Amino acid sequence: MITRSPAKVQTSGPLLASDADEKASWQRQLSQAIRSPEALCRRLGLAPAWLPGAAQGHALFEVCVPEAYLARITPGDPHDPLLRQVLPLAAEGEMPAGFVSDPLAEAAHTPRRGLIHKYAGRVLLIASPTCAINCRYCFRRHFPYDANAPSRAQWKDSLNYLRDDLSLHEAILSGGDPLAASDRQLAWLVGELEAIPHLKRLRIHTRLPAVIPDRIDDALLDWLAASRLQKVVVLHINHANEIDDAVVAACQRLKAAGATLLNQSVLLRGVNDSVDALAALSERLFEAGVLPYYLHVLDPVAGAAHFDVPDGEARELVADLRKVLPGFLMPRLVREIPGEASKTPL
Ligand SMILES: *Cc1c(COP(=O)(O)O)cnc(C)c1O
Ligand code: SF4
Repeated sequence: MITRSPAKVQTSGPLLASDADEKASWQRQLSQAIRSPEALCRRLGLAPAWLPGAAQGHALFEVCVPEAYLARITPGDPHDPLLRQVLPLAAEGEMPAGFVSDPLAEAAHTPRRGLIHKYAGRVLLIASPTCAINCRYCFRRHFPYDANAPSRAQWKDSLNYLRDDLSLHEAILSGGDPLAASDRQLAWLVGELEAIPHLKRLRIHTRLPAVIPDRIDDALLDWLAASRLQKVVVLHINHANEIDDAVVAACQRLKAAGATLLNQSVLLRGVNDSVDALAALSERLFEAGVLPYYLHVLDPVAGAAHFDVPDGEARELVADLRKVLPGFLMPRLVREIPGEASKTPL
């Protein structure tokens, strides 16, 4: 969920030209997020030796980390699994063979601006070009969001696409992070989707509940709970340490609004590439009322090769994980292969 100028609080959103509303707590927290390598290293007490690399990575893809997420990182520990996800490194400048800027070939499946239709029965809508955090491994770190942030008129075009295709039963709000859009924008969009009779489900792919748990506030719960659509929220959490009490409470609020909660993770070197880390993640997710859904192997995006875990090792990890977890806490190990009709199980 990224952009080249990511995670700016939107003054002109993709759905509405202006939101005059008072800023909500989560929007203030987002506007105060750390956005420079210097501030990140200072806040976390990292040795100055980390700064030049962080500055190099930042030049390719900007730092963005809100305080609510920073608070879960152990100061002074360069190997903290949450820090690894947000600290830029010089290695991001490396370009190994096979690592490209659009690894999923999404550009070929964009029949309308901001709408990606790859799989039967469901379409993905880029509901916000921005994110609340910039994850270094993100496969959309080179995504041309500016070209994909639709205006109101362009939304009408996407909505017509959904209306005209009776085989579509599910709309997936994605991004960026769809919950980085304002509730006014989202309530409008969801209202339009509800009016399409053949749509049954609203799915939201978001990292925000685990980044700024205050995002799950009354304004959001109002439109979510009121929707006639069945609601699925797919969180994105990679490590058990990301789930503090505030995140658990946010999950409970989403559940109370009628949402089914699932989680997708990315298998990341130095973050969650051990049986212990993956087992603890599944256990902690379930304590928060969330079921593991996908464990993605890394998409080969330029700048993220240092996070890669080879397929053979990934399969072994998952086989060993199966020995320690109940079946319902097992994520499905998958890869996204351009041109395939679904994610591909490994
Ligand atoms: C991953 C993805 C989906 C959702 O796939 P599921 O297997 O249903 O979770 C839908 N559309 C696009 C373009 C995707 O990349
Ligand atoms: S992984 Fe998700 S939240 Fe993180 S930068 Fe990418 S799109 Fe944004």
